[in-house]
Amino acid sequence: MFASVTSRIALQTRSTLAQRFYTTGAGVNTLLYVEHKDGAISGATLNALTAAKKLGGSVTALVAGDAPEGVAQQVAKLEGISKVLSAKNTAYANSLPEDIAPLLVEAQSKFGFTHLVTGHTAVGKNIFPRAAALMDVAAISDITGIESEDTFVRPIYAGNAIATVKTNDKIKVVTVRGTAFEASSATNDAGVSEEEAPSAETLGVTQWIGEEIQKSDRPDLGSAKRVISGGRGMKNGENFKMLYDLADKMGAAVGASRAAVDAGFVDNSLQVGQTGKIVAPELYIAVGISGAIQHLAGMKDSKTIVAINKDADAPIFQVADYGLVDDLFKAVPELTEKVRTRPRISNYKDLETRMEDEASFAGTVKKQQTTCNGYGTLQSVED
Ligand SMILES: Cc1cc2nc3c(=O)[nH]c(=O)nc-3n(C[C@H](O)[C@H](O)[C@H](O)COP(=O)(O)OP(=O)(O)OC[C@H]3O[C@@H](n4cnc5c(N)ncnc54)[C@H](O)[C@@H]3O)c2cc1C
Repeated sequence: MFASVTSRIALQTRSTLAQRFYTTGAGVNTLLYVEHKDGAISGATLNALTAAKKLGGSVTALVAGDAPEGVAQQVAKLEGISKVLSAKNTAYANSLPEDIAPLLVEAQSKFGFTHLVTGHTAVGKNIFPRAAALMDVAAISDITGIESEDTFVRPIYAGNAIATVKTNDKIKVVTVRGTAFEASSATNDAGVSEEEAPSAETLGVTQWIGEEIQKSDRPDLGSAKRVISGGRGMKNGENFKMLYDLADKMGAAVGASRAAVDAGFVDNSLQVGQTGKIVAPELYIAVGISGAIQHLAGMKDSKTIVAINKDADAPIFQVADYGLVDDLFKAVPELTEKVRTRPRISNYKDLETRMEDEASFAGTVKKQQTTCNGYGTLQSVED
């Protein structure tokens, strides 16, 4: 099945991964699988739409669910969508791959789609490899760039290398890394036509039992502009309160390393990294995290990385734009206090000024000039 995929491994750069300009698209006919929950289109689908539009050609959206009408109407107004297929069935209510994958196969067979695209989310990762297997083509997962209609860029080895993969398969089944493509938010008030999706057999081999969702007033970890993550250095779950206090002051989401999750300090929905969430906020603060490659795989595309660690040799400092070598139990409360009593940090320039002005407050601030990844210029980005 994978024989038709060839790969060329290139050295990683921190720059946007191979977002090369690509204009052709003749003959491209893409199906975008729309992930949605509680009547809202998922953010990852809007990122995937941008990737779909980059392919050129037409983009048909497929909305499946027990009541897909409302979402289908929203999707019909998204700029770049040429048609919406709506599949209504109680079996589609919870995106079970055993039922949705055959639906994708039927839709492809009826409309001759050349590309199937969706977000690289738990849902996308569940459904798309199964659909690819049913069509006997390779699944190309977690793409971060599109070089042409058959050539895609994707990280491998936990992001330590970037592969450019070219597929000879007639149907390209692709999941898209959300942080690598801007969300497509433009709308087209006129809307496009909606029609019923072809019917597919629902196997009923799996049954949806239920789900437990962590509700939080804090920003969503996957899309927050600022993230503060704690690692094993936090020592226990109670100490994470320090991070929540700081996060609340900064309007940030809280994340964690796998070691912190495995030790039971926090819920695993907070895990950032290769086997957790991939985030790329404007500001990422790593507290008591050593910087293992599996953690870096989930956050190294963040625009500005700040590390607080008592070990000056911790690998996290190799990717940090700013590093504070100090005991976190001293540094974090002091930082929170400074944030509390000073005007809110609203952009990178503020943060840069603050960190430099207050270099004396908690040890040594090391500004990384450049790193092996060839970055290090701090940008001033408005909130
Ligand atoms: C297949 C696989 C997948 C994985 N996926 C992930 C993943 O998705 N995400 C992930 O994070 N990891 C993942 N890991 C685990 C990863 O290899 C590391 O074990 C993990 O990231 C380490 O977490 P940590 O940095 O919190 O802990 P440690 O490596 O133990 O580092 C703790 C750090 O805290 C510092 N510290 C301690 N006390 C203080 C203090 N008082 N003040 C300041 N600093 C202090 C220490 O100096 C140290 O650098 C994966 C591993 C494998 C094999």
